[in-house]
Amino acid sequence: MTTLQKVFSPEEFRHQAHQLVDILYDYLADVQNSSSTKAIPFQTPDENLAFWEADFAEGTSDNLSDFFHKVITQSTHLHHPRYMGHQVGVIAPITAVSSMLSALLNNGMAVYEMGLVSNPLEKIVTDLMAKRIGFDEKAGGLLTSGGSLANLTALLAARAKKSPDDIWQEGHQQKLAIMVSEEAHYCIDRAARIMGLGAKGVIKIPVNDKFQIRADLLEQYYQEAIRQNLHIIAIIGSACSTSTGSYDDLEAIAQFAKDKNIWFHIDGAHGGAVIFSEKYKYKVKGIEMADSITIDWHKMLLCPALITALIFKDNQDSFHTFQQKAQYLWANQTSQDWFNSGKRTFECTKLMMSLKVYSLLKLHGEEALSENVTYLYDLAHKFVEIISQYPQFELGVMPESNIVCFRLKDKDNVEIQEIRQKLLLQGRFYIVQTKLKETMYLRVSLMNPLTTESHLKELLDEILQIAFEK
Ligand SMILES: *Cc1c(COP(=O)(O)O)cnc(C)c1O
Repeated sequence: MTTLQKVFSPEEFRHQAHQLVDILYDYLADVQNSSSTKAIPFQTPDENLAFWEADFAEGTSDNLSDFFHKVITQSTHLHHPRYMGHQVGVIAPITAVSSMLSALLNNGMAVYEMGLVSNPLEKIVTDLMAKRIGFDEKAGGLLTSGGSLANLTALLAARAKKSPDDIWQEGHQQKLAIMVSEEAHYCIDRAARIMGLGAKGVIKIPVNDKFQIRADLLEQYYQEAIRQNLHIIAIIGSACSTSTGSYDDLEAIAQFAKDKNIWFHIDGAHGGAVIFSEKYKYKVKGIEMADSITIDWHKMLLCPALITALIFKDNQDSFHTFQQKAQYLWANQTSQDWFNSGKRTFECTKLMMSLKVYSLLKLHGEEALSENVTYLYDLAHKFVEIISQYPQFELGVMPESNIVCFRLKDKDNVEIQEIRQKLLLQGRFYIVQTKLKETMYLRVSLMNPLTTESHLKELLDEILQIAFEK
């Protein structure tokens, strides 16, 4: 057998894939229930590099089961109930199965003929989201690779619609600007600078004591920008913000955007998922007044990275963003065909993202999304109660989502960082840290529906033990 014959041997595929499924079965069964294993097997970058260099030096192997085991044991375990770190989703295993299907088929999506299945599925999924948002039938959207790219894409659509110049042809003639809370995700600032707005083009509005945008200051900042000859194209609301998980007052922002005739974008990368929760969708009251909304499927919606929806109130706006001609791709350059994905995204070849979402909905229904979001937000409330039973701890701010910031009252910033570092090295829990107004906090994102109140009590006990051990 030549190497290439072996590469494409269906038998070889079945052999490796069956092994992997069995290994992953054992892994899930163990990691989801075990109280002994680590949530994160932390090693320094150099230690990890040395480990993999030694592995690579062993050369090729006929059997990858050893490699699969190594990858699993050396990775951070999101399915572990004591994983409470970053806002990356704990995925429904069915979406790993459909990931394998999409990887093998590798239909690139940019044009209809390369996305016969994934383009219609993308329309079905994004139409469903538009409906849950409360938009009418003029709405529509697309899937793209990550919240950061979706936010950039939304701002490009805003610029195409609200700038007085034909920037696509002539470049910038005027100084443009956007308004956003100082607590917004850094990718908004980055997107604006990529677009050539510069530091002055990102008008950062202060937040109140709940870390929400100060809606009472919008008019003042707007007038100041006008005085500086800035032309404001858009305002962005966070739903929710990253550090504290705070939801901006979307209704107030919507009213302001309407008065000024500027684009209203909502960065709901994390917290936009509440559109699927009967109990918590009140948090995004006013969402249907936005021009565009970013929602990540790879955070609270049980899917693997990266899958992000960008939903437009008026779907036509999404076709004006990239007004470029590519003769070899599209016969009709100007038509607004939903089935040619690449017309509306920065990406040309694109993963079959919709397949993963669709497989989840097909097997478990929207109920899975609703239950997950509701459980995680409920759990944050329970964590607040638990923290209140420990006099040594205090909250950063009352949580609005599944993100909770808390600290030991008697420890300074450096000590809090040291405690976090020791937790990381022990590896039983994985949590992170953040600074709120110059004070360091421990921060958990409760992403895992297998995390319970008893894990949270255990976390506080472990922190106390680390902090006060002799
Ligand atoms: C996670 C997040 C982003 C970035 O999204 P990626 O999918 O990681 O690119 C942007 N905004 C907010 C509010 C987020 O929580």
